[in-house]
Amino acid sequence: MSASACGPTPARRPGVDDLRIYGSALEGCEWDLSDNTCHFGAPPGAVAALAALDPALVSRYPSASNGALREELARLGGVTPAEVVTGCGSDDLLDSALRAFGTPGDSIAFLAPTFVMLEHFAISNSLTPVPVLSPGGVASDPEALLAVRARHVYLCSPNNPTGGVLPKGFLERVLAETEGLVILDEAYVEFSGGSMAGFAPAQGRLLVLRTLSKAYALAGLRVGWGVGAEELVLAIERVRGPFRLTVPSEAAAHAALSSDPGWVCRHVEQAVQARERFAEGLRGGGFAPRPSEANFLLVPVQDAAAAASALLSRGIGVRAFAKLPGIGDALRITVAPWPVLQTVLTAMRALVVPADFRGPA
Ligand SMILES: *Cc1c(COP(=O)(O)O)cnc(C)c1O
Repeated sequence: MSASACGPTPARRPGVDDLRIYGSALEGCEWDLSDNTCHFGAPPGAVAALAALDPALVSRYPSASNGALREELARLGGVTPAEVVTGCGSDDLLDSALRAFGTPGDSIAFLAPTFVMLEHFAISNSLTPVPVLSPGGVASDPEALLAVRARHVYLCSPNNPTGGVLPKGFLERVLAETEGLVILDEAYVEFSGGSMAGFAPAQGRLLVLRTLSKAYALAGLRVGWGVGAEELVLAIERVRGPFRLTVPSEAAAHAALSSDPGWVCRHVEQAVQARERFAEGLRGGGFAPRPSEANFLLVPVQDAAAAASALLSRGIGVRAFAKLPGIGDALRITVAPWPVLQTVLTAMRALVVPADFRGPA
């Protein structure tokens, strides 16, 4: 049948045609430092669990809602299993939570710049994203954020892409002043410490999102988790549907949590040390990386697209941001073992112009 014989395509939900399909142009580069995943290997127990999988399980459905895994996650979060919900990455939980608690037309406020998927899932669930400009993506006080009187609020700490953390008291103020759902995305909290997961269930409206994609080095397996009051996580579970983790992802996650906590701690420590050394080296080269408590650095540069393609010519993939609100052009670079970062540093110094470089005097 020729294309012209096709019937009309039904109208999409408003905004759908403008959503960008996520894609990375970096596949195949030598060091892909563009997505904040782990470059220190993977938890050995998880790898062993994958290798030991019973092939007969391939034709069976996985667990519908990951009871055993939720027990491990609950221990990690300092909550009960009924206060934990799992998802196909924390992206899945962000999406499901917005759908469970957002009525089409509701507004959701966030400090900009922040995680790009928030706006994406807000629009795909017919919510109105309300960015509140804040150069670090974190702010010293929540007044500007609360002034827009949005129904829901999304916070990210440490914030992607800036790396900064919310100050003490900020979340409490937002919880007291918000009517709808408050999401606190803690994808990088293992690198900063101080998770609010244990505090979430008593708050009613707070959902803390965590993931095994970053510090736990299991991005390829897609395991996210959320913590909140029992009734809150139950609503998300209803909307999310069953079977969001696969048999291998659940087995590997379970093994990583039960047998590899030492591995995660060691790699987090190495990543933090490498980050600080990298930041120091960048400052020595005239760059001003933003203070970061995550596993990446945001480095303001004069022309992010040109800088990223220059680095790519040396096999280094980074994430380029053009005109970030309050910051300007910047590169986000994932922390890796020091020898890799040393190569990046050499390339940065040779090929990339810092943001405030004014040219030879
Ligand atoms: C990486 C990231 C996530 C998500 O990850 P999943 O792999 O879907 O668990 C969530 N939030 C932020 C801020 C991130 O940077």
